[in-house]
Amino acid sequence: MAKMTFSGGIHPFDGKDMSKDIPIKEITPKSDLVYPLSQHIGAPAKAIVAKGDRVLAGQRIAEAEGFVSSHIYSAVSGTVKAIEERRVLTGNSVLSIVVENDGQYEAVPAWPVKPLEEMTGEEIIERVKEAGIVGMGGAGFPTHVKLSVKEPSKIDYVIVNGAECEPYLTSDYRKMVEEPENLIAGLKVYLKLFPYSLGIIAIEDNKPDCIKIFKALTKEEPRITVKTLKTKYPQGSERQLIFAVTGRELNSKLLPADVGCVVNNVDTVNSVANAIYRGLPLLRRIVTVTGDCIKNPRNFSVPIGTLYSDLVEEAGGFRKEPVKIISGGPMMGFCMFGLDVPITKTASALLCLSEDDISKAEPSACINCGRCVEACPSRLVPKILSDHAENFNEEEFLCGHGLECVECGCCSFVCPAKRPLTQNIKSMRKILLAKKKR
Ligand code: SF4
Ligand code: SF4
Repeated sequence: MAKMTFSGGIHPFDGKDMSKDIPIKEITPKSDLVYPLSQHIGAPAKAIVAKGDRVLAGQRIAEAEGFVSSHIYSAVSGTVKAIEERRVLTGNSVLSIVVENDGQYEAVPAWPVKPLEEMTGEEIIERVKEAGIVGMGGAGFPTHVKLSVKEPSKIDYVIVNGAECEPYLTSDYRKMVEEPENLIAGLKVYLKLFPYSLGIIAIEDNKPDCIKIFKALTKEEPRITVKTLKTKYPQGSERQLIFAVTGRELNSKLLPADVGCVVNNVDTVNSVANAIYRGLPLLRRIVTVTGDCIKNPRNFSVPIGTLYSDLVEEAGGFRKEPVKIISGGPMMGFCMFGLDVPITKTASALLCLSEDDISKAEPSACINCGRCVEACPSRLVPKILSDHAENFNEEEFLCGHGLECVECGCCSFVCPAKRPLTQNIKSMRKILLAKKKR
């Protein structure tokens, strides 16, 4: 069987065994729920409730401000306790709606639905917007914007990103194994929007059971195919995934739609299915809680707004004191300052580790081994880019195509001299991208 991939990449310890065989557990949060008004790319949403208001589960509490923005819904019933600045996982403070959970889960009725065949493209996009769905793989780009392609007939491929290449993460895997039909139903919504497209469910070969399930379920679906990807990090990165399954190349100036592709992650496609077939807004997401410090690692279906501390409690607490706490995976996640911050629409995992290999490592001089070049999936020369970044040499950094870096961390991972390559390149990119925006 041909396995699709890209050049470069690495094979880190995957740590998935800790949580991959345990079914998803739905949790009911114990503390207040916190909804930052900015948990997506674009303009922050605007609160439409006030302190003291009673809200119901599924009620909209913040309205999208403009096209590139997203509505926010309360996942519980209760009272708006405050609208105030609250810390989020990056350490910044963001204006947030705090809901005191009354434990009743009194809900607003679901929206009326109609058969997919009878819906127009505009109706589908409007419902996705109404549901407050954003890219749940980490990007947080509003999904209705992604779907509003100028020429839908020019989309050739709708790719469901089932690679889940980040070590330790198993939330997509569990969702694919437990509810494959929902994912296929969600993909059909996209296929309705893009009439000449082929649906591809792309899964790494470390999930053979998943591949088998989807192949069996899509046997009679002429517009859906399952592609087996070679297990390699960062196989799930948008550019690498598109290249692996279609052979089309993307750079920092192009969007997937420019090369005829739309890519969505598993939880996003599931949320689209929930909105279209069940009339539900985005209220929950799947989060992997794992690492050697967690007593009972597993995946949880978590109401958005739940505090990370509640998740640790649900997973049995700590078996030992963590030295490093990460939101997301070890390669591209954020180091956390504390657990009193909320799960947002884009939070995929909580990883608690007793070792911090990176901060222990003492960087030394480059030995010109070339390993960073071999590992770079963007075919860059990380060592040189990192030197330019350290010297704030913007021109040379741009000449070396520094903006094409996908910040995957492969170069730092393989560097025997433990040079902070990704860190340097990332900082320089941040400065240059901010300048470009201005
Ligand atoms: S330079 Fe960027 S894209 Fe290349 S390996 Fe390093 S982090 Fe990844
Ligand atoms: S991997 Fe590290 S030591 Fe080797 S060339 Fe790159 S920066 Fe230098």
